[in-house]
Amino acid sequence: MRHQAYDLHMHSTASDGTLSPLDLLERAVQRSLQVIALTDHDTVEGVRQLIAEAPDKLTVIPGAEFTCVWRGRVVHIVGLGLSLESEVLQTYLKRLDLLREERAEKINQRLMKKNIPSLLGLVNERAENSVIGRPHFAQAMVELGIVNSEQQAFNQYLGSGKVGDVKVDWPELSDVLAVIRESGGLAVFAHPTKYKFTFTKIREFLADFAELGGEGIEVSYTGISPSHHHELIRMADMFDLKVSAGSDFHSPKHHWTDVGRFMPIKKDVPHVLDALM
Ligand code: AMP
Ligand code: MN
Ligand code: MN
Ligand code: MN
Repeated sequence: MRHQAYDLHMHSTASDGTLSPLDLLERAVQRSLQVIALTDHDTVEGVRQLIAEAPDKLTVIPGAEFTCVWRGRVVHIVGLGLSLESEVLQTYLKRLDLLREERAEKINQRLMKKNIPSLLGLVNERAENSVIGRPHFAQAMVELGIVNSEQQAFNQYLGSGKVGDVKVDWPELSDVLAVIRESGGLAVFAHPTKYKFTFTKIREFLADFAELGGEGIEVSYTGISPSHHHELIRMADMFDLKVSAGSDFHSPKHHWTDVGRFMPIKKDVPHVLDALM
């Protein structure tokens, strides 16, 4: 698949990615991208550096991927065009950092009950200067030889419904949409087909999302099938949402993905880039 000239969903070491913001920038330049958004989980810590170092030919859009709940189910919302100075945003992200730290302690305790040694030291080391997530536990488990791969760590211990999938009080969708709006950003529903929602459920979600001021929906990303891609474009039209796309890049070790690598949106439909540029 050819590289697109933009990528509106990528992670760095500021959350669970393995490239520093500057290494990610270098990769985007190598791939001749013209517009990128860094969308780390619940943080904008990497964004400032990217903006400072980006060459003139590359536009950096400040972003973040917000974890929240809708009807009790965890969903991800990408905020694009956020104002980094926004106090509402800063206060919100501080709260999330604490929530994730408390959650990490709970995950550790739950794993210890399954006779896994305490991972917290290693996890904190790996997540130093970044927002803590389950992938840091997966990395620690590989490092200690408890599992052979990060994927195995998710399959056995950390994935949905497993012992390390600790429930915490993530913010509600409506809270996140308010924070994004008040920070001058635009809200995009991230990777709709990655939640095990039926298409009926996705439509129900989108009705609420649009009603609450959500403006965009990702219709192309790593792993989506062509038929789902076309179905999501139809839904964007149905709910008057702009389309967005990105690789959800985390690491060069994931050879099936890369920055700017996703199915091109061939249809001429309203795009979030029209609103952002
Ligand atoms: P967290 O924000 O701590 O809940 O971690 C979520 C992140 O973990 C996602 O953004 C992915 O990077 C990764 N992840 C979640 N579920 C899986 C899975 N089943 N297999 C591999 N990685 C996963
Ligand atoms: Mn992630
Ligand atoms: Mn996500
Ligand atoms: Mn992501």
